[in-house]
Amino acid sequence: MLSVAVSCSRVSDTGKCPHCKAISIIKNGRTKTGKQQYYCKSCSRRCIDYYSYKACNPAVNLQIIELTREGLGIRSTARVLKISPTTLIRKIIQIADNLKPPIICKGRTYEVDEIKTYWKKKGKAVWIVYALERKTKQVVSFNVGGRSNRTLKVIVDTLMMSEAKSIYTDRFPNYQYIIDKKKHKVCFYGTNHIERKNLTLRTHLKRLHRRTICFSRSIKMLFACLKLYFFSAVDI
Ligand SMILES: [Zn+2]
Repeated sequence: MLSVAVSCSRVSDTGKCPHCKAISIIKNGRTKTGKQQYYCKSCSRRCIDYYSYKACNPAVNLQIIELTREGLGIRSTARVLKISPTTLIRKIIQIADNLKPPIICKGRTYEVDEIKTYWKKKGKAVWIVYALERKTKQVVSFNVGGRSNRTLKVIVDTLMMSEAKSIYTDRFPNYQYIIDKKKHKVCFYGTNHIERKNLTLRTHLKRLHRRTICFSRSIKMLFACLKLYFFSAVDI
């Protein structure tokens, strides 16, 4: 899904129109900065020899994913890649929209937990609920919202549909009302793996660090960054 191809070729090298791929381009003056412009006789559109602004290069998408997963925020990523923060936000949401959750196998054991963070301003709490497959350590589903049945139910329903063998949670009382008693398990050391994953998440994602001013300004952005973190490894 994510193209790795780097389009660094110039129109003058290929001799093809970048829009319709026809070989009917002719020179058509120069830009203010001195770059050669071309005119396509086939589709009647103009193009320049090469673009200096690299944000639309497909290879940038992979760099965005890598830098986001390694704990860089929006502004630091924009500085490193030399693209604008507005473009970066748009691209992160675009990449996240194209990512699909992993295929869930039947009859597996899961751990479910919540992690607290803030959005918009400090003091405005939001919870990230997610399910971790115990054997493969893969996050299969997540949701962002209040610490309520409504948020938890999205995850639990996904696990129930995949015929989960057992679901381990902490002692948060809401779980006992929404998880089938035969499958629900609460025990000491039952959520060890997911608690460790919480720590990894807080280390890797800039917006989940503690005691910082870096947190998401919108739920949509938080959701997109989490989706990129959880599900992009499958596609790369
Ligand atoms: Zn053309």
